[in-house]
Amino acid sequence: MAFTHLSERAETCLRKLCVEIPSRRVGSEGNRAAADFFAGIVASFGFETDTPEFDCVDWKGEGASLTVKGAAFESFTSPYSLGCEVSAPLVVVSTVEELEAADVSNSLVLLRGDIAKEQLMPKNFPFYNPDHHRRIIKLLEAKEPRAIIAATSRDVVMVGSMYPFPLIEDGDFDIPSVYMTDEEGKRLARHAGKEISLESRAHRIAAKGCNVIARKGANPNRRVVLFAHIDARIGSPGAGDNASGVIALLLLAELLADYSGDLGIEIVALNGEDYYSNPGEQQYLAINAGRFDEIVLGINLDDVGYYRGDIAYSLYDCPPDIASSIHKVLSIYKGIVEGKPWYPGDHGLFLLNQRPALAITSELLEELMAEITHTPKDRPEIVDVTKLVSLAVALRDLLLHLNQQGA
Ligand SMILES: [Zn+2]
Repeated sequence: MAFTHLSERAETCLRKLCVEIPSRRVGSEGNRAAADFFAGIVASFGFETDTPEFDCVDWKGEGASLTVKGAAFESFTSPYSLGCEVSAPLVVVSTVEELEAADVSNSLVLLRGDIAKEQLMPKNFPFYNPDHHRRIIKLLEAKEPRAIIAATSRDVVMVGSMYPFPLIEDGDFDIPSVYMTDEEGKRLARHAGKEISLESRAHRIAAKGCNVIARKGANPNRRVVLFAHIDARIGSPGAGDNASGVIALLLLAELLADYSGDLGIEIVALNGEDYYSNPGEQQYLAINAGRFDEIVLGINLDDVGYYRGDIAYSLYDCPPDIASSIHKVLSIYKGIVEGKPWYPGDHGLFLLNQRPALAITSELLEELMAEITHTPKDRPEIVDVTKLVSLAVALRDLLLHLNQQGA
């Protein structure tokens, strides 16, 4: 039937979200435009729509220069870092024990090797924050170097395919920092003890963002919630991650234009999955505190349109009746398969609150993370919109089935 029309609509949305809007980083004008675009469309299909706001920090970086006696080293300002203009001696540190023993006050500290192998979780990040990260951050704050230079390679799990990756990406951490490749770090380490100069041009801007929460169905106290995060990483058009999920939800909203079932349906554009403090996720938790029991099933869509491989779904804590409904409905669709469990996504909000969840992503998520995600390569060309259409249709069928079952 009208599925060609849905493919065309998906193409238009993809261009709008990733080309006409050049950046959807939280707090930016583009992020607001994307949220307004989403809210306008879901409202036009008869969803009751809220856009609750939160405070956040937007950020602009205008480059960094690092020199030793006139010789230049390539470095990049860490996202959300404060800027600086410093000349000071260089101290090189490779392990936490070395940092503990070092005097770095009035110095520039180069972190490389073991201490710089994982991106450090932001200090106020609520969901996952290992002790060894917190220890490094605490030591740095106590020892107060003038600025931090991090030499990094890759951390595919946390930051996708970025090389080098920013060791610190935290608007709540006030020691200025830059990052560089491990190769450049090796070269710089030879100048330990010498005076080096670092100028990093960046500023933080107080801003606002919002979630978009759209509801339909007679009974909001028994609802299925569908998430797709609408923000994108700084420097990435975010076509797969996660304009794809957002567009699948927009198509679903259209397919549910005439829905009048009892089961509540809540479609949410969450704003903050790729931002240091997850403000949209935190807001959603606060708004729903004490009310998670109303959620029959939580569904999260992230990176669902990759042109290679199938769409993969995975279940978490689903009771047998819901699990069998999901398998029954989704097995009808070619190109949608059951895949490996995957934890670091927004469906974590449901799991934290002991609610059943369904996560939907690409079967080739590891390939995407290693090569495309969070980089300028995450462009509309890597998204196949026909996959978004079949996913939206499958989800519509699942919701109608759950409504019929009186889930
Ligand atoms: Zn994502």
